[in-house]
Amino acid sequence: MGIASINPATGETLKVFEPLTDEAIATALERSQQAFERHRRTSFAQRAERMQRAAQILIDRKAEFAKLMTLEMGKPIGAAIAEVEKSALVCRYYAEHAAEFLADVSIPTDGDSFVRYQPIGAVLAVMPWNFPFWQVFRFAAPALMAGNVGLLKHASNVPQSALAIAEVFDQAGFETGAFQTLLIGADRVAQLVADERVKAATLTGSEPAGASLASHAGAAIKKTVLELGGSDPFIVMASADLDAAVAMAVTARMINNGQSCIAAKRFIVQEAIADAFTQKLVERYAALKVGDPLLPDTQIGPLATPAILQDLVHQVQRCIEAGGKILIGGDISALPTQQDERLRRGNFYPPTIVADLPTEAAIAKDELFGPVAMVFRVPDLEAAIALANDTPFGLGASAWTTVDAERDRLINDIEAGSVFINSMVKSDPRLPFGGIKRSGYGRELGAQGIYEFVNIKTVWVKSSDV
Ligand code: NAP
Repeated sequence: MGIASINPATGETLKVFEPLTDEAIATALERSQQAFERHRRTSFAQRAERMQRAAQILIDRKAEFAKLMTLEMGKPIGAAIAEVEKSALVCRYYAEHAAEFLADVSIPTDGDSFVRYQPIGAVLAVMPWNFPFWQVFRFAAPALMAGNVGLLKHASNVPQSALAIAEVFDQAGFETGAFQTLLIGADRVAQLVADERVKAATLTGSEPAGASLASHAGAAIKKTVLELGGSDPFIVMASADLDAAVAMAVTARMINNGQSCIAAKRFIVQEAIADAFTQKLVERYAALKVGDPLLPDTQIGPLATPAILQDLVHQVQRCIEAGGKILIGGDISALPTQQDERLRRGNFYPPTIVADLPTEAAIAKDELFGPVAMVFRVPDLEAAIALANDTPFGLGASAWTTVDAERDRLINDIEAGSVFINSMVKSDPRLPFGGIKRSGYGRELGAQGIYEFVNIKTVWVKSSDV
């Protein structure tokens, strides 16, 4: 249904928006260019003051924004509040560090030489619905602090979140047009990328969307950053603290109702502890509370759209056809939400564990975007690493061990943009975030994130004493 907010817990349509006309898009691009001319001349101190104000607005209005996200895409309300707080944190982080990251770097040569980092202009951000605020703020905070301006094409199912974010930057005092939300469908992205006023683009989403955007950007010779899917391994060696690993395994898979790119998706467990691990995991899955995400004690809300639910149902079916065994879940009709008149039409899926799936099955390498864990058994470290890497993706990896030699092998040999030892994979404003292989390229966050969309200008001045 075009651009619309539909409550995924109830199926109720909350608001429908008309996509922008060509004329409105042209006006927004013009405004963006004018804003850039003013914004790029502001000092780091001025930008930081505005960014700190944006952070404060997020904190002051966190209950309102969190409810908006939960209503539009179904994440549990507690997680939504935490997401608004984390968005404020990334604003503060770049407000405090951008000047240091982007200071001139002098390099000794035969002249007076240095590198100066300069903004490039309007950056288009094509964003997903799963973290409607966090994904946008982690792009916008470094981009605006670097002196760029932002154009947001958010996912079509979170238009109210998209509009609220633009309002935050306006209220924070950024130049009019420095950050604009364009309510448009994916079919308008190519035209934007081709426009000479758009200088670069970043996309977080699926592989087909990333490939499409990158091909248009390539034709126009524009830089892109792509943050795409993942099928992250969660490796548990026999030496690991089993209870800690199991507890984290639940959080790592279930975060955001299972719809996170860096959720643990493939649990790779050493044979010696596989029975114990699986049994404890099943017990914990059985205790998870599925229901209305606006209730504070709900742990698993609905999937964001009916299409995502259908995809997951189909994927679990493929797991069974390939020989996988369902240890718990897999049956929507058994959910308590089915007995609730208000929630019956919601996109709920039960916490599900699939075991004994042959590793060579195509579905074993796929990304399952929902509360479904695949558990695999391996004899040793060698087999664990081989299976972890046997996927087209390379986003993150979590590995559990208390043996130093195992830890070092895992850090070195896992093919991924990040490895977390004895913890789940998570994003942090201070640490670079991104993937390799089909998970994309480029980095967000940390110092590295701010360098993606700047002109790294080399300056050489003949020394007066040479
Ligand atoms: P999606 O369909 O690719 O949507 C993401 C965004 O791309 C939306 O704004 C969408 O707009 C737009 N889009 C879709 N097709 C496009 C095209 N051909 N050209 C340009 N833009 C296009 O992704 P999704 O399935 O909703 O999101 C889930 C995926 O995102 C998963 O694979 C997940 O792992 C990945 N993800 C990755 C990260 C990361 O940091 N690596 C983080 C979160 C999610 P419309 O909504 O209008 O279609």
